Amino acid sequence: MKPILFNLNDKELEKFVTDMGQPRFRAKQISEWLSRGAPDFSVMKNLPETLRIDLGKSAETLPVKIVKKLQSSDGQTTKFLLELADSEQIECVLMRTSYGNSVCVSSQAGCAMGCKFCASTLLGLKRNLTVNEIFAQILVVQWELRNDNFAKKPIRANGDPNNSDVSHIVVMGTGEPLQNTQNVIGFIERANNEMGIGWRRITVSTCGIVPGIQELIGWGRPINLAISLHAPNDELRKKIMPIANKYTITEIMDAAWKFTDLHNRQLMIEYLLIGDKDGNLLNATTDCAEQLVDIVRGKNCMVNLIPWNAVAEREFTSPSGNAVHRFQDVLIKNGIHTRIRRERGTDIGSACGQLRISGKC
Ligand code: SAH
Repeated sequence: MKPILFNLNDKELEKFVTDMGQPRFRAKQISEWLSRGAPDFSVMKNLPETLRIDLGKSAETLPVKIVKKLQSSDGQTTKFLLELADSEQIECVLMRTSYGNSVCVSSQAGCAMGCKFCASTLLGLKRNLTVNEIFAQILVVQWELRNDNFAKKPIRANGDPNNSDVSHIVVMGTGEPLQNTQNVIGFIERANNEMGIGWRRITVSTCGIVPGIQELIGWGRPINLAISLHAPNDELRKKIMPIANKYTITEIMDAAWKFTDLHNRQLMIEYLLIGDKDGNLLNATTDCAEQLVDIVRGKNCMVNLIPWNAVAEREFTSPSGNAVHRFQDVLIKNGIHTRIRRERGTDIGSACGQLRISGKC
């Protein structure tokens, strides 16, 4: 297999170029291009053409390569299908918003969690991603933004349409980040150090791996935490999320409040609204909403309601707009901060839970 130069440290890269008979400073030039997300050697214009060609034959640039790019009809959301060196495929999503460019990254190839409503877990877990593989996802997106490699210009009501920096990160793509906590932490440290992305612009979303939340507490950085709760009691949660057999809602929420209290942050609670195949509200009844109120009352949190996005292999339904509003009204009446998540990219299969590892996108 060809060496991936992004994975080499400074010394190793110097050795690589000097072994090719090149002066040492070429290593610095190459590493600058790589840190900007250069996808191949041909764009490295300050290198002699013969060297670019030789490098192309003997090495790879980054540990991820774009194999497909899909843009939503409004141009705001772009899904990238990326290939890793071992041919596993992962996805990441760029969302252009009025507050900046937000990138949703994957932390694993596949997912072991087995949530009944989600597409990402259909083929099980393949493997954890390395720090470099997670970090390179935002570098390739940044490269695309800076080079304006998009079919459609985004239409944005506010914000600067020319802004080409990644400003926000959500670790909410394929995989369970807190099953790969150390690499996710390593990635966030690099995103902060090397790209200047503030802790508070970074969100990690988990289905509730309690020891992982404790690791984040020990780490001590004031990032945002999101909990995929999706049910207001353990009995119902067990029906849709196998992880509920391992950790109770009380254990998860205790750890989560501890994290957000420590950093004085608002906890994000993700709550899918799902109906069964006959259209009966599963976790979306007003009774469930009342139970949810009891969990979050008096706490600093935001409940994000997410009407379920269709996944062909899953036999659920999405509640009507009325049912969604009835659920939300219960929260509002009880003074709970809540919003209905505007889904982005449903037409390209990149909305929540639709990310797939199969490449069938
Ligand atoms: N494993 C992590 C991060 C990835 S999932 C976690 O569970 O938080 C990102 C979010 O999408 C989660 O809240 C997940 O529950 C939600 N999701 C999964 N399938 C979905 C679907 N079909 N429609 C809408 N949201 C979905």
